[in-house]
Amino acid sequence: MNYVIIGNGIAGVSAAEAIRQLDGSCGIFMISNESVEPYCRPMISLVLEGTVSASKLPIRGSSFYQSLNITPVLGSRVARMDVDAKILFLSDGKTLPFDTLLIASGADPRPVKAPADLANIFFMRNQHQVLKMLEALPRTRHALVLGGGLVGFKAACGLLHRGIDVTMLIRSGYPLSLQVDEIAGGMILSELTRRGLNVRVGTEVTAFKGINTVTGALLSDGSEICCDLVIIGKGVLPAVSFVPRDRIQVDQGIVVDNHLETTCPGIFAAGDVVESMDIARKTRWVNAIWPEAATQGRIAGMNMAGRAVVYKGSLSRNVIRIFDLDILAVGWVNAPDDPRFTVLSEHNQCLNTYRRLVFEGDSLIGATLVNRIETGGILTAMIQNEIPVRASKEKLLEPHLSLKSLMF
Ligand SMILES: Cc1cc2nc3c(=O)[nH]c(=O)nc-3n(C[C@H](O)[C@H](O)[C@H](O)COP(=O)(O)OP(=O)(O)OC[C@H]3O[C@@H](n4cnc5c(N)ncnc54)[C@H](O)[C@@H]3O)c2cc1C
Repeated sequence: MNYVIIGNGIAGVSAAEAIRQLDGSCGIFMISNESVEPYCRPMISLVLEGTVSASKLPIRGSSFYQSLNITPVLGSRVARMDVDAKILFLSDGKTLPFDTLLIASGADPRPVKAPADLANIFFMRNQHQVLKMLEALPRTRHALVLGGGLVGFKAACGLLHRGIDVTMLIRSGYPLSLQVDEIAGGMILSELTRRGLNVRVGTEVTAFKGINTVTGALLSDGSEICCDLVIIGKGVLPAVSFVPRDRIQVDQGIVVDNHLETTCPGIFAAGDVVESMDIARKTRWVNAIWPEAATQGRIAGMNMAGRAVVYKGSLSRNVIRIFDLDILAVGWVNAPDDPRFTVLSEHNQCLNTYRRLVFEGDSLIGATLVNRIETGGILTAMIQNEIPVRASKEKLLEPHLSLKSLMF
């Protein structure tokens, strides 16, 4: 039996470990177009910031492949697959047959409309890109960050931390608009501007300027901005270019059932590439976060190796420290204005705290906490385990609460 895993990120690694635990003698092949050993992708922003060295990124020892008897196929891209013949075609012309396949190819950065082929314009998805940025930093005076999502925001914080002048362009009105609501977004924006970040909202780049190396950008509002480094952080798209859509259903991501099997039997998917049932929304959604990728990888691996394990569904959750602000956002924080949902909130401007809870009937489905985030664990457990609120909902806004007090 040959198991093949596309991707050596946390989803692929977790799957390989689960398979090997259940099947000591099978062949496991892991393919990645990156050539380095598995590493902690979220921490590349700390390498940019200068607080963590690249040598601290690996998540498993250097003997990972050998100790689990895995054959790594690194520096190779899957270009195409034949699901009937069960063969992968690699971009270097090689082929790889499989019996059972896991697609854990993660996500690619969303491109920008303007041609971005000058030097010092970077995406921030992998270790190699950040190491290239570090080479450019000594000559960087003015950086431009496109996008106010998690990656754009982390890039901007990292550069600010290094004392570089940073301008961030955000199409929506505030940063992290997928993670938090407008009030929390406003608190984040004022903290970032207090720390020296220049933020321009409602505008985007129409063209980059420069000969060989970027020197500036033209914006959609007609203005021009000087910059010697650009980081594009405008969200991600699932990495599915090699997936035959007539055989494997792909919507916002690869559609999977509750065993993480795709619509093509024997082919599973896990991690950022997947669109799974969202526990809070109760519809399919892409929750591209590290803990979900790890869980999905482990469960997909077990199912591939023959132990039937049900995946309950995914849940968006982020804990973010922004200089002096602690933010926790879980579940469906931006549910639409609809009588189905009840929203309770409390904004204390003196203490600089904010709490916002979203309910559907008796169930908590979303929570945003800014500062005093200690109750975040209980609120997350309530959303994740769909525990109905028996006590008054207002109680959940209190900065101190116990799970027991909420249930009776
Ligand atoms: C800067 C940054 C900050 C982040 N911060 C956070 C955070 O604070 N919290 C959080 O929860 N998450 C965060 N994330 C998201 C988190 O890193 C991802 O959710 C997680 O890494 C997904 O793991 P994965 O295994 O699904 O995919 P990936 O880690 O992307 O791994 C997929 C692998 O497959 C390879 N691959 C893709 N296509 C092919 C192909 N055709 N052939 C061969 N190989 C291929 C890729 O190169 C990659 O090596 C952050 C991400 C970034 C980039």
